Amino acid sequence: MSQAQTAEKMITLTLPDGSARTYPAGTTGEEVALSIGAGLAKAAVGMKMDGVQRDLYLPLEADAKFQILTAKDPEGLDIIRHTTTAQMLALAVKELWPTAKLAIGPTIDNGFYYDIDLEATLTPDDLPKIEAKMLEIHKRGKNVKREMWDKQKAIALFKSRGENYKAEIIEGAPDGQISLYRQGEGDDAFIDLCFGPHVPNFSKIPLAFKLTKLSGAYWRGDSKNKMLQRIYGVGFANEKELKAYLHMMEEAEKRDHRKLGRELDLFHLQQEAHGSVFWHPKGYLIWRQLEAYMRRAIDDGGYREVKTPQVMDARQWEQSGHWGKYRENMFVIPDEVPNIADEGPIVSDKAEWMALKPMNCPAHVLIFKQGIKSYRDLPLRIYENGCCHRNEPHGALHGLMRVRQFTQDDAHIFCREDQIVSETRKFCELADRVYKDLGFTSYTIKLALRPEKRFGSDAMWDKAENELRTAVLEAGLDKEHGFEELPGEGAFYAPKLEWHLTDAIGRTWQVGTIQSDRVLPERLDASYIAEDGERHRPVMLHRAIFGSYERFIGILIEHYAGNLPTWLAPSQAVVCSITNEFDGYAEEVAKALVAAGIRADTDLRSEKINFKVREHSLQKVPFILAVGGRDAEARTVAVRRFGSEKQEILPLDEAVQTLVKDCSAPA
Ligand code: ZN
Repeated sequence: MSQAQTAEKMITLTLPDGSARTYPAGTTGEEVALSIGAGLAKAAVGMKMDGVQRDLYLPLEADAKFQILTAKDPEGLDIIRHTTTAQMLALAVKELWPTAKLAIGPTIDNGFYYDIDLEATLTPDDLPKIEAKMLEIHKRGKNVKREMWDKQKAIALFKSRGENYKAEIIEGAPDGQISLYRQGEGDDAFIDLCFGPHVPNFSKIPLAFKLTKLSGAYWRGDSKNKMLQRIYGVGFANEKELKAYLHMMEEAEKRDHRKLGRELDLFHLQQEAHGSVFWHPKGYLIWRQLEAYMRRAIDDGGYREVKTPQVMDARQWEQSGHWGKYRENMFVIPDEVPNIADEGPIVSDKAEWMALKPMNCPAHVLIFKQGIKSYRDLPLRIYENGCCHRNEPHGALHGLMRVRQFTQDDAHIFCREDQIVSETRKFCELADRVYKDLGFTSYTIKLALRPEKRFGSDAMWDKAENELRTAVLEAGLDKEHGFEELPGEGAFYAPKLEWHLTDAIGRTWQVGTIQSDRVLPERLDASYIAEDGERHRPVMLHRAIFGSYERFIGILIEHYAGNLPTWLAPSQAVVCSITNEFDGYAEEVAKALVAAGIRADTDLRSEKINFKVREHSLQKVPFILAVGGRDAEARTVAVRRFGSEKQEILPLDEAVQTLVKDCSAPA
């Protein structure tokens, strides 16, 4: 652009701090960054114009809200991760295995992955090799530039290079220009399909990335397609953050609930019941404690517990809308088992199809609809330890965290419009109590606001969002729990509040939720007689605190590294005889503990006491009691707490009292 032209037009950029700066049209993002400061220019990896991310070297032609992105901004970090996978990881693989075909390479939380079609099967030993190659590419310091290609030419380019996945993606794109990124110069330069933006030069990528693992992934996520090899990596703004993350991952591995579940004999999973849990006695004891705790909490909160059918026929699911929208995730079964030899059509009528419930909501509406309800019956709080089934794809399943059969601590509050705020507030307070009782002092509450595609008027959304917001503020939980709002993340029919717990190693887990629903009561024709004598629709609040027992127990195991609070520990105490001579007294001690409500066992094996102590310590039993000759005589016990080397000699009565106090569940 000539001097004469740029002098004609000036543009105004409004910076994040609200200040405005004027530049000749055609100034690039790099030049703007430099005009603000050399440090910013050095740190800049991309820019944002009116909310859209762009490459830094592009000329600016119009007034805009403007921001330079650096590694400190989540979006800037995303650009770095994106460039790392698409331009460095992809090229490294191509240089090491020239016949590799590249599929897709998006960013994910903390990093990125790339799906690659490769004849050789990669092993973890290949990751350092690929990383070394990435460092070499980084060192070359090439520029990465965007080019716009004619669609057909782009297809031809990738076909000529054997990149049939890229060609297939472009074929499916709308007609027009295709955005490609070229690394370096020349005809044989590395070119990848990408919307961008990318950092303009590798020197802008901090040396704070690492490849972490491999897995398989079907092309386009479809099991009918070829299985590709997925390479995962992480990337951060600096080495310190990378190290902190890798340390957390190491900790996470030690705490992995699948590993601890095996070591502590809590549960197992097996192929024959993929995604459903076999709870062993010790694991189920944890479940039972949680269930009993939750029952006390909901009884206190004025809920009434119900149990609803596991299977309902398709007419019901059709009315609730699940049959149309959710059927792929439901386990559907014919009402009458067809003759297997009969190859004819099995079903003609929807009543002949049954489905395992994927959620409890419709069944609770059916309970609400029994008999006439009046405004005096509201709020009606219906709770269920509701066992649900969802047909999740195999690849999505993960230990207790993602399963096909799960039990929700699910309740629905049917209430009047004017009760929404107070009911939501009560729920906020109940959830707060439960999380604190379970040792999660740090959590955030988020309000997921209206999504782009939604039912209902703006006025309805204004009202619904404000009700949830007001409830959190009234409960006084906003400041302590970093209340924030998430634009666009609500359900299509309602906003929702979400509870995100922070665990002992700083990871967050979304567990609890409450959302107000005016759609399902309408679909299933639920009503009550109001003070005016007319039929009105109740509002339905869907809410859960654990989310599911399975996942919550998984989170607890990892949060506590298996060393659960005493009241949740499957075995709270084990009484070990020092020699078999004292077995009788050991049994007497255990009996006294059990009579006082402690889950206590004995260990009367002819093993050395140190061996027994070590073994029960590995099993993370909170109290190990040893009894020998002097104890039997003096009616004392030697008490050792988990994690402590010391033991304390206590009279039996006192020991029982101490344990009872320590093992009692929250009220
Ligand atoms: Zn529900």
